Amino acid sequence: MRIEELTWPEFDRIKGDVEAVILPVGSVEAHGRHLPLGTDTFAPLEIARRVEEKAKLKGREVLLLPPIWYGHTFTLNVYPGTINVRPESLRMYVGDVLAEIAAEGFERIIILNGHGGNVYPLTEAAEDVVELYPDVEIVMVSWWIDFRDEILSVCSSQGHAGEDETSVMLAVRGDLVRMENARGRKIRRRFRTIRKDIGRELFPDGVNDDPSRASADKGEKILELVSEGVLRLALGEVE
Ligand SMILES: [Zn+2]
Repeated sequence: MRIEELTWPEFDRIKGDVEAVILPVGSVEAHGRHLPLGTDTFAPLEIARRVEEKAKLKGREVLLLPPIWYGHTFTLNVYPGTINVRPESLRMYVGDVLAEIAAEGFERIIILNGHGGNVYPLTEAAEDVVELYPDVEIVMVSWWIDFRDEILSVCSSQGHAGEDETSVMLAVRGDLVRMENARGRKIRRRFRTIRKDIGRELFPDGVNDDPSRASADKGEKILELVSEGVLRLALGEVE
């Protein structure tokens, strides 16, 4: 179920059947010359869609919330089209949304995060909420981190706008992927450097990985592995 499609009496009626609420959070930011700016939201939205569908096939209910499109993305803000919100804005905004979900009586909330820069603000937002609602458990899934082993059984490498993310986008919205422009390399730094234009070094053209071996088939496999894992989480089948 999607909350935005329900009337309030319908919502009120199904509330008790919902086993988990899923909130996708992404970003609008540069993803190389080959992926759309919305990549970090398209991916968790598709994972959420699959989880809801799979739950329904088992006769179970998860409730999908509309995504938070904007995230904290300082580093990539050197490229046109990146929309960065301050970490405290994200923390407050998502915190308010999570608190409303908790106030409705839901106790298992899954944040499906699509973007690395969101991890700390979202963690803080969740901490704020569980202070107020001690019966609530919020689990944050950052798919490319938490499913790294599974992803690396499918892809030879992973990274920002890299083989894994590009594969996922080819599977989700292949019409938006410009594979003829898909190039890049892995860049590793030992220490975290904060400088206004550091993104140009860490993410040349907005990429940090080689996306050239991406395929829709790999993306499909990743989406299935991740959505199966999140489904088990949503249905309370994993610790
Ligand atoms: Zn991304």
